[in-house]
This record gives sequence, structure tokens and C-alpha cells, in this order.
Amino acid sequence: MKRLPIIILIMLAAATLLIAILRNPPIQSGNSNNQLQNSTNLGANLDKTNSSTEQKIDFQSPLDNPQTRITKKPFGIYITPKNSPVQPERFAGYHTGVDFELLPDELDKEATVTAFCNGPIIQKGWANGYGGYVIQQCSINKETVTALYGHLNVSTVPAQGVILAAGAKIGVLGKGFSSETDQERKHLHFALHKGGAVELKGYVANQSALEAWINPVNYFNN
Ligand SMILES: [Zn+2]
Repeated sequence: MKRLPIIILIMLAAATLLIAILRNPPIQSGNSNNQLQNSTNLGANLDKTNSSTEQKIDFQSPLDNPQTRITKKPFGIYITPKNSPVQPERFAGYHTGVDFELLPDELDKEATVTAFCNGPIIQKGWANGYGGYVIQQCSINKETVTALYGHLNVSTVPAQGVILAAGAKIGVLGKGFSSETDQERKHLHFALHKGGAVELKGYVANQSALEAWINPVNYFNN
């Protein structure tokens, strides 16, 4: 009988398994260990999800629903104090960025601005026309550009050198008609300038100068 050794082997294995189970019954602490392991796995899965999301969404609108917010000053609009959709107006020229407006019920609430791209904060401070601003370095089609976020409360912006992922909080909009917005209405001026050099101009005098800037609307993925 050739089967006998196999049957004995199976019985031995079964007996060993039974002994092992009897010695280590599943107890409560074993479960919590499992839970810990599960949550660690969950973390790993989340990381994977995040990195794949980052690859998919390279660029994000710094405020939601850009198409419903960019209503007054789109990219490249030529304005003067007389014809400007915003009154009173103190500027003139071609608009180098886009202005995101807030809805009436958002004016008294904290408005969080998020990063357009994956990249470091290279400058933040105060400037004429903006109040608080922050510059983030981005890469579009492997070309370096700078992203300018104007009219922010600078104290809410992370330190220079901090690398942000697209969609991460970059700051909170400044209070309307205060020093935080340089006395402008509460809104976000957002602009993309070609190259790595920081350029703060919100308006330029002619269309050829406007060619150094990019319409960000073309890159929003949300
Ligand atoms: Zn603007």
C-alpha cells in the first residue's frame, strides 16, 4: 500500500496544526495587533492613492469652481480706471493673471487658497497692489514658471522653502479692504509667469509684455 505513508503524513500535519491552535488561541490582544497592522496597511494604501492622484492632477485651481469665480477680470483683459469692471479702479493695463471672486456668503468666512502645482514656496511678503502675496515655483511641460497668489494673509502661508503638493493649503485670503489685500476687495489674484525669476506686476502696458505670462485657466484640472 503506497497510500499509507501519505495518510500518516496528513494525520501528523493535522495533529501538529491542532496542537498549534490549542497553544495559541486567538485572544483579544491578537485582534488589536491585527487592527494595528490593518491601519498600517491602510496608511500604505492611502499613500499609494495620494501619489497616483498627484500624478493625475498636476495642476489645481487655487479656489474651487474657477469658471464661476473668474467673472470680472480674466487673463489679459485691458482695463483702465474708467472701463474697469471693478469700481473704483486705480490700475490700468493688461491683466497678467485671473481674479477669483468670492460669493456674497463667503466674504465673512475664512477662504482657503490651495497650491496650483507641486513645488516649493520661493518668496512671500507684502507688495503694493496685493497686500500679502506668495510665490510658488512650478513646472509646466518641464519649463519653470512662477505662480503668484495675491491678496493673502501672509501669516497663514508656510515658510519659504516648504514644498507643497497641488491642492495643499497655501494660505487664507486677506480681509477685504484691509492692509492684507492692500485695500482691495476680498479676492484672489492668481498669475503664472514664465521662467524662474519672480515678477510681481499685476498689469503690463502692452500685449507683447503679456506674452511673458500664461493663462492659468488652460491648466486647471478641477
Ligand atoms: Zn488681479
